Amino acid sequence: MPAAKCPVCGLEVEIPEDYMPGELIEHSCGVVLEVVKNGNGLLTVRVFGGVEEDWGE
Ligand SMILES: [Zn+2]
Repeated sequence: MPAAKCPVCGLEVEIPEDYMPGELIEHSCGVVLEVVKNGNGLLTVRVFGGVEEDWGE
């Protein structure tokens, strides 16, 4: 199973093998992560909604 590091808490994030880029994963630290493909064609995650934006709606 592919795994990535959570950009917020640094712990491992398991990405289910049937997940596609654009799917969302709620990590155990409470952040919502978006599955993305990196330059090697592997799945990784980034913070959904962007880290430089305010979270307020
Ligand atoms: Zn986390």
